Amino acid sequence: MRRLRKIKIVATLGPASNDYETIRALFEAGADVFRLNMSHGEHSDIAERHRIIRKIEEDTGRPIAILADLQGPKLRVGTFANGEEDLAEGQDFRLDLDETPGDASRVQLPHKEIFAALEPGASLLVNDGKIRLKVRACGADHADCTVTVGGTISNRKGVNVPDVELPVAALSEKDRKDLDFVCGLGVDWLALSFVQRPRDVEEARELARGRAAVLSKIEKPGAVKNFDAILAASDGIMVARGDLGVELPVQNVPPIQKRLVRKCRAAAKPVIVATQMLESMIESPMPTRAEVSDVAAAIYEGADAVMLSAESAAGSYPVEAVETMNNVAIEVESDPTYRDVINASRGGDKQTVADAIVSAAREIAETTDISAICCFSQSGTTATLVARERPHVPIIALTSMVNTARRLCLSWGMHCVHTGEVSRFKEAVINAARAARSEGFADATDQIVVTAGVPFGQSGTTNILRVAPCEERLIYATDPG
Ligand code: PGA
Ligand code: MN
Repeated sequence: MRRLRKIKIVATLGPASNDYETIRALFEAGADVFRLNMSHGEHSDIAERHRIIRKIEEDTGRPIAILADLQGPKLRVGTFANGEEDLAEGQDFRLDLDETPGDASRVQLPHKEIFAALEPGASLLVNDGKIRLKVRACGADHADCTVTVGGTISNRKGVNVPDVELPVAALSEKDRKDLDFVCGLGVDWLALSFVQRPRDVEEARELARGRAAVLSKIEKPGAVKNFDAILAASDGIMVARGDLGVELPVQNVPPIQKRLVRKCRAAAKPVIVATQMLESMIESPMPTRAEVSDVAAAIYEGADAVMLSAESAAGSYPVEAVETMNNVAIEVESDPTYRDVINASRGGDKQTVADAIVSAAREIAETTDISAICCFSQSGTTATLVARERPHVPIIALTSMVNTARRLCLSWGMHCVHTGEVSRFKEAVINAARAARSEGFADATDQIVVTAGVPFGQSGTTNILRVAPCEERLIYATDPG
């Protein structure tokens, strides 16, 4: 089964996509990566979704990436005696450590580290920024605030504190438990919420012990500021526009998105553009024109993946939402302007033999009639370098490591194939040609580019490029020996 587009689709699973039939339909409609959101659902739900995805993998013979999204240090208020209260603009409101249910004058904020970091003048945003509080005075166990934007506040609503670097660990107790649980199940990517510094990423990496790649969600102003160091510490990035658009003025989000996408591509690390992409499709079978433009914009920018959240997890039209993204991608990627933009934004630091080989592979494909670039990659690094080139022909990543094949499903343009171990280059070429033919990328009269590193089995050694015929007899006849 092959995709007819380059950008990848990440679909979040939830109550609307819980059973084999629906998840399989999402996969067939185009979902390449499934996101398990650890903020919702019991471990038993997560395990069941995980089992279904691996079953679909087995039934279709195609690798699928699973991304477990850890909740992170999400701050929430306590509860109210009446369940909710209306706060009026201009009134006073106090946050404190007292567990007593709240009223119209106060509520608990059960995070004492936050009080230590708050300063007068700081903003607190409640319920996705719908309510805004400004700190007037604060102490070790309270903050006296003025309501600057009023509204209804209710039990356990989320709180964002954009102006302050929070002295909290990136991974809460719950995150650590969740991390161990999902790594035990076997996931390919861990997404870290509210990353603030590279150290947060390193901490998760230590806990993951190589069992999953680590992706940082950029959703705080501080993470935007520290982006280069966070990118260097991460295997991938998510532009998490939901919280980012709460913590920063919404108009700041599009330029940040463009900048981050470009930097990730230059670093050859996958980047996901996420949140509200097809928001209206939670309730409607048709997207708005603006949503279609938003998905298209991420594709033109060169993102590796676009993501569905509630659209696929809790909406009424999960499969239609994936189909919509798929159709938009096919259309945009066949636009000559798309090619011009993608070619003009090619960049990145190139110093290694692998960099030179993958860029030569792309040039050969542009100059002559090549059906696919087939790259053997153990760790996946060379494959992501090929993706950075954004070639117009399909990329077939061949690896004997099933984990690598799955992880690479998040990367632009990648068709991943899990092969047996190969020990000779000729054998690699034969495998590549077979994969290209059997998956419909080439027929016997076509030519492919094959890259690999010899000796096989060592990662980071790409040192061979061959233009090869797809017909087996010709591969033998032209074997350099
Ligand atoms: P969330 O992250 O859906 O876990 O909040 C994405 C975002 O904030 O955009
Ligand atoms: Mn978020």
